[in-house]
Amino acid sequence: MKKKIFLDLDGTLAKFNVPNALERFDKEEGFFSKLGAYKGIEIVNELAKNNNLFVISASPNEQADKDKMIWLEKFLPNININNITICRIGENKAKIIQDKYNIVINDNCYLLDDYTKNLNEWESFGGKGIKRITSVADNSTKKWQGLELKQLKDLVNFV
Ligand SMILES: [Mg+2]
Repeated sequence: MKKKIFLDLDGTLAKFNVPNALERFDKEEGFFSKLGAYKGIEIVNELAKNNNLFVISASPNEQADKDKMIWLEKFLPNININNITICRIGENKAKIIQDKYNIVINDNCYLLDDYTKNLNEWESFGGKGIKRITSVADNSTKKWQGLELKQLKDLVNFV
């Protein structure tokens, strides 16, 4: 089975650490579409030509859904639209993906995410988690012992 790599957006590909982010993210129109991208995003876009890169991002509402699609058109135009999933905050990403694609997540399915809770849920479904390490990555839940990614260009080692 071909590898599938699922990518989180905020804090993983998109720079979420902007002023007053938590007060703005669920109200401000255009908030997500205006976030910057981490260095190496163009390499991710190049890898997306292989068609085994997917996006799974949690969003607070329909306006944010639209803004995330604008961000993706800007920075990752090579991602197939069928490979993009926007869910709601707090949902289990592994369950959402299994149900949407009617697949069983296994060790050929990777999730790159900055949030350890998502990675733990993904691995409990049978997938492999890759912790996105940035200066602002959340490490509050528990120290991550698994795979890590410090620079987006290193994604080539996983595809
Ligand atoms: Mg994130």
